[in-house]
Amino acid sequence: MRVELLPSSLPASGGHVSDAQFLVTYLVDGALAVDAGSLGLLADLRRQERVRHVFVTHEHIDHIATLPIFLENVYEPGPDCVELLAAECVLDFLHHDIFNGRVWPDFFALSTGDDRFVHATPVVPGTPVTRAGLTITPLPVSHVEGSLGLLVDDGQVAVAFPSDTGPTDDFWRHIATCPRLQAVFLEVSFPDTMADLATITGHHCPRSFAAEIRKLDRDVRWIVVHRKARYAGEIARELTALGLKNVELVEPGRGYEF
Ligand SMILES: [Zn+2]
Ligand SMILES: [Zn+2]
Repeated sequence: MRVELLPSSLPASGGHVSDAQFLVTYLVDGALAVDAGSLGLLADLRRQERVRHVFVTHEHIDHIATLPIFLENVYEPGPDCVELLAAECVLDFLHHDIFNGRVWPDFFALSTGDDRFVHATPVVPGTPVTRAGLTITPLPVSHVEGSLGLLVDDGQVAVAFPSDTGPTDDFWRHIATCPRLQAVFLEVSFPDTMADLATITGHHCPRSFAAEIRKLDRDVRWIVVHRKARYAGEIARELTALGLKNVELVEPGRGYEF
């Protein structure tokens, strides 16, 4: 399985692309996108066109920012279209608050008969779906209403994407039963000095991250994502000081092979 967290920051003039993460999109085997924060910014349109299924974990803007742009980019007249998968309440939000004919055209209503922009599929927590050769199990996490983390399994290896979440239990209990699990992309949004804000907003700081990874008694790679850019250095120093095993910082744009 190949997983890439798409880059989401522009280089300073003449500078290098930084690893600051502002938005969230993972590409899995090129065909499945987990969230659409930066999906519509891929300069290579063919890479956008290869994505046929977009799983939206929740409706926060860093996870859906370029979904309207992406759907427009890949639209071709005809019956084939991208499938959007999410909790029913998230699909309702996307339809009524984004694709509402004002913020963006109502691609849901415009998708009729043999001409479609998008096809929406509500998912049920705990019920796996199979797409692009991947079995995707959506599982509730502790963030905002309807938030889902994902276990993605290709039959050889499995990778977990808890998305945005604070401390949670069922997610870890479920993925612990998957013998093929190799890696977890887990967030750390705030430094320990902002632990209260992390708790209120359903996120992790290094200390709660350390407590969380102990819940999964498995030898997996822990790949840290979603550091708020302003605090990224502080979070990295705090994580290093904790001396945790198998923990690494994500490199946006790197193709992780599992
Ligand atoms: Zn969020
Ligand atoms: Zn987020």
